[in-house]
Amino acid sequence: MRKKILLIYTGGTIGMNKSENGYVPQKGFLQEILEGLPVLRNEAMPEWELIELDPLLDSSNMTVVEWNLIGSLIEKYYVDFDGFVILHGTDTMAYTASALSFSLENLDKPVIITGSQIPLFEVRNDGLDNLLTSMMIAAEGHVREVGLCFSDMLLRGNRATKMSTSDLHAFYSPNYPALADIGTKISYNHMIPKISSTMPFRVQPLKKIPIGIIKVFPGIQFELFEEIMSESLKGIVLETFGAGNIPGSSDAILPIVRKAHENGTVLVICSQCPKGSVSLGTYETSAALKNAGAVCAYDMTTEAAVAKLYYLFSCGYDADTVKEKMEENLRGELSNW
Ligand code: ASP
Repeated sequence: MRKKILLIYTGGTIGMNKSENGYVPQKGFLQEILEGLPVLRNEAMPEWELIELDPLLDSSNMTVVEWNLIGSLIEKYYVDFDGFVILHGTDTMAYTASALSFSLENLDKPVIITGSQIPLFEVRNDGLDNLLTSMMIAAEGHVREVGLCFSDMLLRGNRATKMSTSDLHAFYSPNYPALADIGTKISYNHMIPKISSTMPFRVQPLKKIPIGIIKVFPGIQFELFEEIMSESLKGIVLETFGAGNIPGSSDAILPIVRKAHENGTVLVICSQCPKGSVSLGTYETSAALKNAGAVCAYDMTTEAAVAKLYYLFSCGYDADTVKEKMEENLRGELSNW
């Protein structure tokens, strides 16, 4: 029996059309293109149906609202399809992949997110390969988690990050091996432990949690950021140097950290280095963060840290529990060795 895949188009280059102002997503356009592709009727391909979000969005405009829409579509059609392929813009694809990896609890079917750098309607494009491979992976069912398929790799969704605005090889996973290498064959990495659960599948709706990101740089005047450290701020991701270091005398940041602490804001320490892990306390320059109760993101991407904050606060946990769980490995998003 041929497998059945639900394609969910959210917007993004892969299904865009030309307009006077550049590429734009256009209602019904992708359906038309897909129906015109004989390869999608080939026996070797799974059966498919397409649902488009309304409105279709350039992925720069994605919010938790759209993450929830995708989640509720997967929930609604979970038993009817063998797998799901989400067609998405590349700009925030890693955020959406991370968010879904958390919100789709006890997932036991493939959810593969993909897109392209060149739209499908162009004669030369990378969208067709990405689409066909993602559909095959979703149909094969070896990977029962949120994967990001792009060019020659299938990556764990919450480990992926966009690295190029122009290369067709646009994503990589700096701290975790690929789930599959896509060459003449799709070679799954069977060494990777499966993320599995025997609990029933459910979707945790995400809320618009007030969170922020601060990237440190030489000469940063931390006092300028004190204003945003209000009581309503639930979490903040600090992108630090190297293994979690902050510039200058660590005293400079202490007022902010203290304020965050008093307000119950969770301060998460990520690194600006894509590869490797944060290790608070290795240098004096990170000891202040550790002493002030900041949370170590280890080798999590910023995308995963942001998505995880949204998720944990949406679950209704208090700040202390969020801190604890931020340092735990929930969906293979971090290695806290
Ligand atoms: N701006 C587009 C988007 O993220 C870029 C892309 O799809 O590659 O929706």
